[in-house]
Amino acid sequence: MIWNPEKECASREELHRLQSERLVNIVKYTYDNVKFYHERMDACGVKPSDIRSIDDIGMLPFMTKQDLRDYYPTETFAAPMSEIVRFHASSGTTGKPIVAGYTRNDLDNWSEGVARCLTAYGLSKHDIIQISYGYGLFTGGLGAHEGATKVGCSVLPASSGNTSKQLLLMKDLGVTALCCTPSYALFLAESLHSTPGFSPDQMNLKVGIFGAEPWSENMRAELEDKLGIKAYDIYGLTEVSGPGVGGECEYQDGTHIWEDMFYPEIIDPNTCRPLDYGQTGELVFTTLLKEGMPVIRYRTRDLTHLNADRCRCGRTMVRMGKIMGRTDDMLIVRGVNVFPSQIESVILEFAECSGQYLITIDRINNNDTFQLDLELRPDCYSDNMSRMENLKKEIVGRLASVIGLKCDLHIVEPGNIERSCGKAKHVADLRKI
Ligand code: ADP
Ligand code: ZN
Repeated sequence: MIWNPEKECASREELHRLQSERLVNIVKYTYDNVKFYHERMDACGVKPSDIRSIDDIGMLPFMTKQDLRDYYPTETFAAPMSEIVRFHASSGTTGKPIVAGYTRNDLDNWSEGVARCLTAYGLSKHDIIQISYGYGLFTGGLGAHEGATKVGCSVLPASSGNTSKQLLLMKDLGVTALCCTPSYALFLAESLHSTPGFSPDQMNLKVGIFGAEPWSENMRAELEDKLGIKAYDIYGLTEVSGPGVGGECEYQDGTHIWEDMFYPEIIDPNTCRPLDYGQTGELVFTTLLKEGMPVIRYRTRDLTHLNADRCRCGRTMVRMGKIMGRTDDMLIVRGVNVFPSQIESVILEFAECSGQYLITIDRINNNDTFQLDLELRPDCYSDNMSRMENLKKEIVGRLASVIGLKCDLHIVEPGNIERSCGKAKHVADLRKI
Protein backbone atom coordinates (compact mmCIF):
# COMPACT_ATOMS: atom_id res chain seq x y z
CA MET A 1 0.00 0.00 0.00
CA ILE A 2 1.07 3.57 -0.65
CA TRP A 3 -0.03 6.31 1.76
CA ASN A 4 0.10 9.23 -0.65
CA PRO A 5 0.38 7.93 -4.23
CA GLU A 6 -0.04 11.40 -5.69
CA LYS A 7 3.22 12.52 -4.09
CA GLU A 8 5.13 9.27 -3.62
CA CYS A 9 4.58 8.20 -7.24
CA ALA A 10 4.60 11.64 -8.88
CA SER A 11 6.45 11.84 -12.19
CA ARG A 12 9.98 13.19 -11.92
CA GLU A 13 8.88 16.23 -13.93
CA GLU A 14 6.06 16.95 -11.49
CA LEU A 15 8.42 16.47 -8.57
CA HIS A 16 10.94 18.84 -10.12
CA ARG A 17 8.23 21.45 -10.53
CA LEU A 18 7.07 21.06 -6.94
CA GLN A 19 10.60 21.09 -5.52
CA SER A 20 11.42 24.21 -7.51
CA GLU A 21 8.33 26.06 -6.36
CA ARG A 22 8.96 25.05 -2.76
CA LEU A 23 12.67 25.90 -2.82
CA VAL A 24 11.98 29.40 -4.13
CA ASN A 25 9.50 29.93 -1.29
CA ILE A 26 11.60 28.48 1.50
CA VAL A 27 14.71 30.44 0.51
CA LYS A 28 12.81 33.70 0.52
CA TYR A 29 11.07 32.82 3.79
CA THR A 30 14.34 31.87 5.50
CA TYR A 31 16.17 34.93 4.14
CA ASP A 32 13.43 37.18 5.46
CA ASN A 33 13.13 35.54 8.87
CA VAL A 34 16.48 34.10 9.95
CA LYS A 35 19.09 36.76 10.49
CA PHE A 36 22.13 34.53 10.39
CA TYR A 37 21.10 32.92 7.10
CA HIS A 38 20.27 36.31 5.64
CA GLU A 39 23.79 37.47 6.49
CA ARG A 40 25.32 34.29 5.15
CA MET A 41 23.54 34.61 1.81
CA ASP A 42 24.56 38.25 1.60
CA ALA A 43 28.16 37.26 2.31
CA CYS A 44 28.01 34.81 -0.60
CA GLY A 45 26.40 37.41 -2.83
CA VAL A 46 23.22 35.35 -3.36
CA LYS A 47 19.77 36.92 -3.32
CA PRO A 48 16.52 34.95 -3.01
CA SER A 49 15.59 36.17 -6.49
CA ASP A 50 18.63 34.29 -7.89
CA ILE A 51 16.96 31.01 -6.96
CA ARG A 52 14.48 30.16 -9.71
CA SER A 53 14.38 26.37 -9.58
CA ILE A 54 15.75 23.43 -7.65
CA ASP A 55 18.63 23.34 -10.14
CA ASP A 56 19.92 26.56 -8.55
CA ILE A 57 20.34 25.00 -5.12
CA GLY A 58 24.13 24.77 -5.56
CA MET A 59 24.36 28.57 -5.30
CA LEU A 60 23.20 28.51 -1.70
CA PRO A 61 25.52 28.36 1.31
CA PHE A 62 25.54 25.33 3.59
CA MET A 63 24.36 25.16 7.19
CA THR A 64 26.16 23.03 9.75
CA LYS A 65 25.49 21.64 13.18
CA GLN A 66 27.94 24.22 14.49
CA ASP A 67 25.68 26.98 13.14
CA LEU A 68 22.74 25.54 15.06
CA ARG A 69 24.91 25.39 18.16
CA ASP A 70 26.23 28.93 17.68
CA TYR A 71 22.69 30.27 17.36
CA TYR A 72 21.36 28.06 20.17
CA PRO A 73 18.63 27.79 21.25
CA THR A 74 16.21 29.59 18.93
CA GLU A 75 17.99 32.11 16.72
CA THR A 76 17.64 29.82 13.72
CA PHE A 77 13.85 29.72 14.14
CA ALA A 78 11.94 31.42 11.35
CA ALA A 79 8.48 31.42 12.88
CA PRO A 80 7.49 33.60 15.85
CA MET A 81 7.28 31.78 19.17
CA SER A 82 3.49 32.18 19.15
CA GLU A 83 3.40 29.77 16.17
CA ILE A 84 5.75 27.20 17.72
CA VAL A 85 3.73 24.36 19.20
CA ARG A 86 6.51 21.89 20.09
CA PHE A 87 10.20 21.70 20.92
CA HIS A 88 12.52 18.75 20.59
CA ALA A 89 16.24 18.47 21.19
CA SER A 90 18.77 16.19 19.51
CA SER A 91 20.26 13.45 21.64
CA GLY A 92 23.55 15.31 21.81
CA THR A 93 25.46 12.20 20.70
CA THR A 94 28.26 14.38 19.37
CA GLY A 95 28.21 17.40 21.67
CA LYS A 96 25.86 20.14 22.83
CA PRO A 97 22.27 19.28 21.81
CA ILE A 98 20.43 21.44 19.35
CA VAL A 99 16.84 22.57 19.87
CA ALA A 100 14.24 22.33 17.12
CA GLY A 101 10.90 24.19 17.05
CA TYR A 102 7.85 23.00 15.11
CA THR A 103 4.72 24.78 13.96
CA ARG A 104 1.38 22.97 13.62
CA ASN A 105 2.05 22.49 9.89
CA ASP A 106 5.52 21.11 10.64
CA LEU A 107 4.03 18.46 12.91
CA ASP A 108 1.48 17.56 10.21
CA ASN A 109 4.19 17.20 7.55
CA TRP A 110 6.39 15.21 9.87
CA SER A 111 3.61 12.75 10.67
CA GLU A 112 2.85 12.57 6.94
CA GLY A 113 6.44 11.34 6.41
CA VAL A 114 6.08 8.73 9.17
CA ALA A 115 2.69 7.64 7.80
CA ARG A 116 4.25 7.06 4.38
CA CYS A 117 6.93 4.89 5.99
CA LEU A 118 4.57 2.81 8.11
CA THR A 119 2.26 2.22 5.15
CA ALA A 120 5.25 1.15 3.06
CA TYR A 121 6.08 -1.43 5.75
CA GLY A 122 2.56 -2.80 5.31
CA LEU A 123 1.00 -1.32 8.45
CA SER A 124 -2.59 -0.13 8.63
CA LYS A 125 -5.31 0.50 11.17
CA HIS A 126 -5.38 -3.24 11.77
CA ASP A 127 -1.95 -3.14 13.39
CA ILE A 128 -0.91 -2.72 16.99
CA ILE A 129 2.37 -0.85 17.20
CA GLN A 130 4.64 -0.73 20.22
CA ILE A 131 6.76 2.40 20.17
CA SER A 132 9.83 1.73 22.27
CA TYR A 133 11.79 4.77 21.19
CA GLY A 134 12.19 7.16 24.11
CA TYR A 135 9.35 9.67 24.49
CA GLY A 136 10.34 13.19 25.41
CA LEU A 137 12.93 15.50 23.93
CA PHE A 138 14.14 12.77 21.58
CA THR A 139 12.14 12.97 18.35
CA GLY A 140 11.81 9.18 18.06
CA GLY A 141 8.93 8.50 20.45
CA LEU A 142 6.51 11.33 19.70
CA GLY A 143 7.46 11.40 16.00
CA ALA A 144 6.64 7.74 15.44
CA HIS A 145 3.59 8.10 17.69
CA GLU A 146 1.92 10.80 15.64
CA GLY A 147 2.61 9.06 12.35
CA ALA A 148 1.19 5.79 13.65
CA THR A 149 -1.87 7.60 14.97
CA LYS A 150 -2.37 9.19 11.55
CA VAL A 151 -2.34 5.75 9.93
CA GLY A 152 -4.85 4.59 12.52
CA CYS A 153 -2.69 1.93 14.17
CA SER A 154 -3.43 1.09 17.79
CA VAL A 155 -0.46 2.69 19.50
CA LEU A 156 1.23 1.36 22.62
CA PRO A 157 3.49 4.23 23.76
CA ALA A 158 5.88 1.98 25.67
CA SER A 159 8.86 4.35 25.49
CA SER A 160 12.24 2.78 26.28
CA GLY A 161 13.27 0.68 29.27
CA ASN A 162 11.43 -1.71 31.59
CA THR A 163 12.09 -4.59 29.25
CA SER A 164 10.07 -7.26 31.07
CA LYS A 165 6.96 -5.05 30.97
CA GLN A 166 7.58 -4.41 27.29
CA LEU A 167 7.61 -8.14 26.60
CA LEU A 168 4.52 -8.76 28.70
CA LEU A 169 2.45 -6.11 26.91
CA MET A 170 3.81 -7.19 23.53
CA LYS A 171 2.55 -10.70 24.22
CA ASP A 172 -0.74 -9.90 25.94
CA LEU A 173 -1.87 -7.26 23.45
CA GLY A 174 -0.71 -9.22 20.41
CA VAL A 175 1.51 -6.38 19.20
CA THR A 176 2.20 -6.70 15.45
CA ALA A 177 4.88 -4.01 14.97
CA LEU A 178 7.80 -2.87 17.09
CA CYS A 179 9.51 0.50 16.61
CA CYS A 180 12.81 1.22 18.41
CA THR A 181 16.56 1.41 17.87
CA PRO A 182 18.12 -1.74 16.43
CA SER A 183 20.22 -2.02 19.60
CA TYR A 184 17.15 -2.08 21.79
CA ALA A 185 15.46 -4.53 19.43
CA LEU A 186 18.44 -6.85 19.88
CA PHE A 187 18.17 -6.53 23.65
CA LEU A 188 14.41 -7.20 23.54
CA ALA A 189 15.03 -10.23 21.30
CA GLU A 190 17.65 -11.64 23.67
CA SER A 191 15.33 -11.08 26.62
CA LEU A 192 12.49 -12.76 24.78
CA HIS A 193 14.64 -15.86 24.28
CA SER A 194 16.07 -15.91 27.80
CA THR A 195 13.18 -14.86 30.07
CA PRO A 196 11.29 -17.81 31.54
CA GLY A 197 7.64 -17.76 30.50
CA PHE A 198 8.32 -16.04 27.15
CA SER A 199 9.07 -17.44 23.75
CA PRO A 200 9.00 -15.98 20.23
CA ASP A 201 6.10 -18.20 19.16
CA GLN A 202 3.80 -16.56 21.72
CA MET A 203 4.25 -13.25 19.95
CA ASN A 204 2.24 -11.86 17.09
CA LEU A 205 5.05 -9.58 15.83
CA LYS A 206 5.37 -9.19 12.07
CA VAL A 207 7.21 -5.95 11.44
CA GLY A 208 10.20 -4.20 13.01
CA ILE A 209 10.82 -0.49 12.38
CA PHE A 210 14.34 0.39 13.33
CA GLY A 211 16.41 3.54 13.09
CA ALA A 212 18.18 6.38 14.93
CA GLU A 213 21.57 4.66 14.61
CA PRO A 214 23.48 2.74 11.93
CA TRP A 215 22.77 -0.97 11.60
CA SER A 216 24.14 -3.45 9.10
CA GLU A 217 22.39 -5.86 6.73
CA ASN A 218 23.70 -8.68 8.91
CA MET A 219 22.02 -7.09 11.91
CA ARG A 220 18.79 -7.00 9.90
CA ALA A 221 19.09 -10.75 9.27
CA GLU A 222 19.81 -11.33 12.96
CA LEU A 223 16.78 -9.33 14.14
CA GLU A 224 14.47 -10.87 11.54
CA ASP A 225 15.53 -14.32 12.63
CA LYS A 226 15.39 -13.73 16.39
CA LEU A 227 12.06 -11.92 16.35
CA GLY A 228 10.38 -13.66 13.41
CA ILE A 229 9.72 -10.33 11.62
CA LYS A 230 10.57 -8.32 8.56
CA ALA A 231 12.81 -5.48 9.72
CA TYR A 232 12.70 -2.10 7.99
CA ASP A 233 14.87 0.97 8.20
CA ILE A 234 13.48 4.38 9.14
CA TYR A 235 15.72 7.42 8.90
CA GLY A 236 15.56 10.94 10.22
CA LEU A 237 17.20 13.62 12.33
CA THR A 238 16.04 16.35 14.67
CA GLU A 239 17.42 19.18 12.54
CA VAL A 240 15.26 18.13 9.59
CA SER A 241 12.23 16.97 11.66
CA GLY A 242 12.77 13.51 13.19
CA PRO A 243 12.17 9.91 12.12
CA GLY A 244 10.32 9.55 8.83
CA VAL A 245 12.45 11.72 6.55
CA GLY A 246 12.57 8.47 4.62
CA GLY A 247 11.86 4.79 4.96
CA GLU A 248 12.26 1.52 3.12
CA CYS A 249 9.54 -0.13 1.06
CA GLU A 250 8.61 -3.79 0.89
CA TYR A 251 11.71 -4.51 -1.23
CA GLN A 252 14.10 -3.47 1.59
CA ASP A 253 16.46 -2.15 -1.04
CA GLY A 254 17.22 1.40 0.02
CA THR A 255 15.40 4.10 1.98
CA HIS A 256 13.02 6.24 -0.08
CA ILE A 257 13.53 9.90 0.83
CA TRP A 258 10.32 11.97 0.84
CA GLU A 259 11.86 14.39 -1.62
CA ASP A 260 8.83 16.62 -1.97
CA MET A 261 9.49 17.71 1.63
CA PHE A 262 13.18 16.99 2.24
CA TYR A 263 15.51 17.62 -0.68
CA PRO A 264 18.65 15.45 -0.48
CA GLU A 265 22.10 16.03 -1.95
CA ILE A 266 25.36 14.13 -1.53
CA ILE A 267 28.59 16.11 -1.31
CA ASP A 268 32.24 15.36 -0.87
CA PRO A 269 32.73 16.23 2.83
CA ASN A 270 36.17 17.67 2.15
CA THR A 271 35.57 19.79 -0.92
CA CYS A 272 31.77 20.28 -0.55
CA ARG A 273 31.39 19.46 -4.26
CA PRO A 274 28.17 17.65 -5.23
CA LEU A 275 28.63 13.96 -5.97
CA ASP A 276 26.77 11.83 -8.48
CA TYR A 277 24.21 9.16 -7.77
CA GLY A 278 25.95 6.04 -6.50
CA GLN A 279 28.91 7.90 -5.00
CA THR A 280 29.29 7.83 -1.25
CA GLY A 281 29.57 11.14 0.54
CA GLU A 282 27.88 13.37 3.09
CA LEU A 283 24.12 13.68 3.01
CA VAL A 284 22.79 17.24 2.85
CA PHE A 285 19.14 18.24 3.32
CA THR A 286 17.00 21.22 2.49
CA THR A 287 13.61 21.26 4.20
CA LEU A 288 11.22 22.43 1.52
CA LEU A 289 8.23 23.03 3.81
CA LYS A 290 9.50 23.61 7.34
CA GLU A 291 8.24 26.78 9.01
CA GLY A 292 9.54 26.58 12.59
CA MET A 293 13.20 25.91 11.90
CA PRO A 294 13.88 25.52 8.19
CA VAL A 295 17.30 24.24 7.22
CA ILE A 296 18.90 24.92 3.86
CA ARG A 297 21.68 22.68 2.58
CA TYR A 298 22.14 21.29 6.07
CA ARG A 299 25.20 19.07 6.35
CA THR A 300 24.08 15.99 8.29
CA ARG A 301 27.55 14.39 8.53
CA ASP A 302 25.83 11.08 7.67
CA LEU A 303 27.65 9.11 5.00
CA THR A 304 25.68 7.31 2.32
CA HIS A 305 24.85 7.36 -1.40
CA LEU A 306 21.68 7.99 -3.41
CA ASN A 307 20.15 5.73 -6.02
CA ALA A 308 17.90 7.23 -8.69
CA ASP A 309 16.90 3.92 -10.31
CA ARG A 310 13.19 3.29 -10.43
CA CYS A 311 12.03 1.10 -7.58
CA ARG A 312 9.78 -1.88 -8.24
CA CYS A 313 7.31 -0.58 -5.65
CA GLY A 314 6.17 2.24 -7.96
CA ARG A 315 7.46 5.08 -5.80
CA THR A 316 9.48 7.56 -7.81
CA MET A 317 11.42 9.06 -4.92
CA VAL A 318 15.18 8.42 -4.71
CA ARG A 319 16.54 5.79 -2.43
CA MET A 320 19.39 6.18 -0.01
CA GLY A 321 21.81 3.39 0.90
CA LYS A 322 22.31 2.34 4.50
CA ILE A 323 24.09 4.98 6.56
CA MET A 324 27.69 3.88 7.18
CA GLY A 325 27.99 6.25 10.10
CA ARG A 326 28.69 9.91 10.59
CA THR A 327 31.88 11.52 9.46
CA ASP A 328 32.77 11.86 13.13
CA ASP A 329 32.02 8.16 13.88
CA MET A 330 34.92 7.14 11.69
CA LEU A 331 37.78 5.75 13.71
CA ILE A 332 41.30 6.14 12.46
CA VAL A 333 43.27 3.31 14.00
CA ARG A 334 46.92 2.95 13.04
CA GLY A 335 46.14 5.01 9.98
CA VAL A 336 43.26 2.77 8.87
CA ASN A 337 39.77 4.27 8.52
CA VAL A 338 37.06 2.12 10.01
CA PHE A 339 33.39 2.52 10.90
CA PRO A 340 31.83 0.57 13.79
CA SER A 341 29.09 -0.53 11.35
CA GLN A 342 31.73 -2.39 9.27
CA ILE A 343 32.91 -4.24 12.35
CA GLU A 344 29.33 -5.13 13.27
CA SER A 345 28.77 -6.51 9.82
CA VAL A 346 31.81 -8.83 10.02
CA ILE A 347 31.02 -10.02 13.53
CA LEU A 348 27.52 -11.03 12.49
CA GLU A 349 28.87 -13.21 9.70
CA PHE A 350 29.62 -15.64 12.54
CA ALA A 351 26.54 -17.50 13.72
CA GLU A 352 28.09 -17.80 17.19
CA CYS A 353 28.09 -14.01 17.74
CA SER A 354 25.12 -12.36 19.41
CA GLY A 355 25.69 -8.87 17.95
CA GLN A 356 26.79 -7.33 21.26
CA TYR A 357 30.22 -5.75 21.00
CA LEU A 358 32.39 -2.94 22.34
CA ILE A 359 35.39 -1.41 20.61
CA THR A 360 38.04 0.15 22.84
CA ILE A 361 40.76 2.24 21.27
CA ASP A 362 43.70 3.61 23.20
CA ARG A 363 47.18 4.92 22.49
CA ILE A 364 50.04 3.34 24.37
CA ASN A 365 53.65 4.34 23.69
CA ASN A 366 52.48 6.24 20.61
CA ASN A 367 50.80 3.15 19.18
CA ASP A 368 47.07 2.72 18.76
CA THR A 369 45.59 -0.28 20.50
CA PHE A 370 42.36 -1.81 19.21
CA GLN A 371 40.47 -4.08 21.57
CA LEU A 372 37.23 -5.77 20.66
CA ASP A 373 35.03 -7.26 23.38
CA LEU A 374 32.55 -9.66 21.93
CA GLU A 375 29.68 -11.69 23.27
CA LEU A 376 28.58 -15.03 21.86
CA ARG A 377 25.07 -16.41 21.93
CA PRO A 378 24.60 -18.04 25.32
CA ASP A 379 24.34 -21.51 23.72
CA CYS A 380 27.64 -21.00 21.88
CA TYR A 381 29.65 -19.71 24.81
CA SER A 382 31.70 -22.45 26.39
CA ASP A 383 34.69 -22.89 28.60
CA ASN A 384 36.23 -25.25 26.08
CA MET A 385 39.37 -23.18 25.61
CA SER A 386 40.54 -24.67 22.35
CA ARG A 387 37.12 -24.17 20.70
CA MET A 388 37.07 -20.57 21.84
CA GLU A 389 40.65 -19.99 20.67
CA ASN A 390 39.86 -21.35 17.22
CA LEU A 391 36.81 -19.15 16.89
CA LYS A 392 38.81 -16.13 18.04
CA LYS A 393 41.45 -16.80 15.41
CA GLU A 394 38.82 -17.04 12.70
CA ILE A 395 37.13 -13.77 13.70
CA VAL A 396 40.41 -11.88 14.06
CA GLY A 397 41.49 -13.17 10.64
CA ARG A 398 38.25 -12.23 8.96
CA LEU A 399 38.30 -8.73 10.50
CA ALA A 400 41.89 -8.25 9.39
CA SER A 401 41.07 -9.24 5.82
CA VAL A 402 37.93 -7.05 5.58
CA ILE A 403 38.97 -3.92 7.45
CA GLY A 404 42.75 -4.30 7.36
CA LEU A 405 43.28 -4.17 11.11
CA LYS A 406 44.31 -6.76 13.63
CA CYS A 407 42.40 -6.53 16.88
CA ASP A 408 42.91 -7.83 20.35
CA LEU A 409 39.75 -9.90 20.68
CA HIS A 410 38.21 -10.76 24.04
CA ILE A 411 35.28 -13.11 24.17
CA VAL A 412 33.33 -12.04 27.23
CA GLU A 413 30.55 -13.85 29.05
CA PRO A 414 27.05 -13.27 27.68
CA GLY A 415 25.46 -10.28 29.40
CA ASN A 416 28.77 -8.55 30.20
CA ILE A 417 28.50 -5.75 27.65
CA GLU A 418 26.21 -2.95 28.72
CA ARG A 419 22.84 -3.00 26.91
CA SER A 420 21.19 0.12 25.57
CA CYS A 421 17.53 1.08 25.52
CA GLY A 422 18.21 3.83 22.96
CA LYS A 423 21.23 4.51 20.80
CA ALA A 424 24.02 2.08 21.64
CA LYS A 425 27.53 3.10 22.53
CA HIS A 426 29.76 0.72 20.61
CA VAL A 427 33.03 2.64 20.94
CA ALA A 428 35.20 3.78 23.83
CA ASP A 429 37.95 5.92 22.35
CA LEU A 430 40.29 6.50 25.26
CA ARG A 431 42.68 8.51 23.09
CA LYS A 432 40.28 11.44 23.36
CA ILE A 433 40.26 11.54 27.16
P1 ADP B 1 21.94 13.23 17.53
O1 ADP B 1 22.58 13.85 16.34
O2 ADP B 1 22.23 13.97 18.79
O3 ADP B 1 22.15 11.73 17.66
P2 ADP B 1 19.23 12.71 16.56
O4 ADP B 1 18.52 11.94 17.60
O5 ADP B 1 18.48 13.72 15.80
O6 ADP B 1 20.40 13.45 17.26
O7 ADP B 1 19.86 11.66 15.59
C1 ADP B 1 19.89 11.77 14.20
C2 ADP B 1 21.02 10.93 13.68
O8 ADP B 1 20.81 9.54 13.98
C3 ADP B 1 21.18 10.96 12.20
O9 ADP B 1 21.87 12.11 11.76
C4 ADP B 1 21.94 9.68 11.95
O10 ADP B 1 23.32 9.85 12.24
C5 ADP B 1 21.34 8.73 12.95
N1 ADP B 1 20.28 7.94 12.32
C6 ADP B 1 18.95 8.18 12.32
N2 ADP B 1 18.29 7.23 11.64
C7 ADP B 1 19.21 6.36 11.18
C8 ADP B 1 19.17 5.17 10.39
N3 ADP B 1 18.03 4.66 9.98
N4 ADP B 1 20.33 4.58 10.09
C9 ADP B 1 21.51 5.09 10.52
N5 ADP B 1 21.63 6.19 11.26
C10 ADP B 1 20.49 6.83 11.59
ZN1 ZN C 1 10.44 1.10 -3.27
